[in-house]
Amino acid sequence: GVFSTLSDRLTTVLQGLRGKGRLSDADIDATAREIRVALLEADVALPVVRGFIAKVKERAKGAEVHQALNPAQQVVKIVNEELVNVLGGETRRLNLAKNPPSVIMLAGLQGAGKTTLAGKLAKWLKGQGHTPLLVAADLQRPNAVTQLQVVGERAGVPVFAPEPGNGVGNPVEVSRRGIEEAKAKQHDIVLVDTAGRLGVDEEMMQQAIDIRAAVNPDEVLFVVDAMVGQDAVNTATAFRDGVGFTGVVLTKLDGDARGGAALSVREITGQPILFASNGEKLEDFDVFHPDRMASRILGMGDVLTLIEQAEQHFDQEQAEKAAQKLHTGQLTLEDFLEQMLAIRKMGPIANLLGMLPGAGQMKDQLAMLDEKHLDRIQAIIRGMTPAERDDPKIINASRRLRIANGSGVKVSDVNDLVNRFFDARKMMASMAGRMGGYGPSKSRK
Ligand code: GDP
Repeated sequence: GVFSTLSDRLTTVLQGLRGKGRLSDADIDATAREIRVALLEADVALPVVRGFIAKVKERAKGAEVHQALNPAQQVVKIVNEELVNVLGGETRRLNLAKNPPSVIMLAGLQGAGKTTLAGKLAKWLKGQGHTPLLVAADLQRPNAVTQLQVVGERAGVPVFAPEPGNGVGNPVEVSRRGIEEAKAKQHDIVLVDTAGRLGVDEEMMQQAIDIRAAVNPDEVLFVVDAMVGQDAVNTATAFRDGVGFTGVVLTKLDGDARGGAALSVREITGQPILFASNGEKLEDFDVFHPDRMASRILGMGDVLTLIEQAEQHFDQEQAEKAAQKLHTGQLTLEDFLEQMLAIRKMGPIANLLGMLPGAGQMKDQLAMLDEKHLDRIQAIIRGMTPAERDDPKIINASRRLRIANGSGVKVSDVNDLVNRFFDARKMMASMAGRMGGYGPSKSRK
């Protein structure tokens, strides 16, 4: 699609951050520079790029750090959120009139995909239980009316077309009559397809303005081809200042050109993107969700899910308490169990690991191995008395046998867990000592 190159580049830039313990301002500047180049190469309008980069830098350098995330994840999170913002934030639903019929007017340059979109939108609305009527008010292009009739037939939606007596040659009249027809036949939504030219011209703009004035639409959707690059921004500005519009539809997102227009149009015009088209078939159409599009562009849908879950389930206090105990060698099996349960709340371990880039192939083995292993550890710790969990040193041979029997495992499994726990505790304590108190126990809140 139109974002593949941008997506590849952003993914590479952000993956370059992985494994860094912390990011210096210089690291952030370098990353910001690379993101800037990636956006400019994708044809995103300069003012949009500038604003975007400034925000990412400011946030990445600011105090906005979340302890559940490592520095690389924090930057991914920020870039993702700023992408969502540039794309409009919340999903914007279609505004419909309280008293039907609602009128939706489509405007845009010729070839943008308006007529195709009219069919897609009609079919989609029908699927939502509406009874749309298509109105062929594009009398400029020779085939436009026939094309809309073909599209309407495929969508199973009737088309109101100019005929002698209902406004041949006069798009304003056709539009007006179309609305009357919708009222008479109880259609709850009217889609008015208007004329486009190859370039913006005064006559075309005036015609659109006249139609808008005549039909008083609930929505004017500006249809724009995501493949046309920088020029889309100029066209969008001209339409905004001319006929004006209430929302944007992006078409040809399946194309292989650079889709910077798609990323610029919302910010430049201040109007939200409502729908997206990504193919020639009527089904290739969907509501535009800024958040989904952003994570598609970042190509890190799964990582973003992981980040979200980590944020949701991360209990700062509990983690700090455990870290403190860990550093002083006081961690108990009870703490250990608590931590394990907190992590497992996020979902099956294999899913979590599978979300990490590159883990895909190992997924099945991970699923088998880790879930069973974790279940066993959980069962063993649960089979211990509170005193045993608190001070594993008291777990002698007879206690081990009792725990093994009680939790349905072998004595060697219990031995294994207890020994590993002691090893880990010793190692962590000595590490903490060497690092001179480094650790998440210092609150950054
Ligand atoms: P209009 O002049 O604005 O009414 O544009 P059309 O609806 O006639 O579309 C122009 C061309 O673009 C046609 O060949 C359509 O099949 C094609 N088209 C429209 N939308 C899409 C899309 O989302 N993806 C692709 N690949 N082609 C599209």
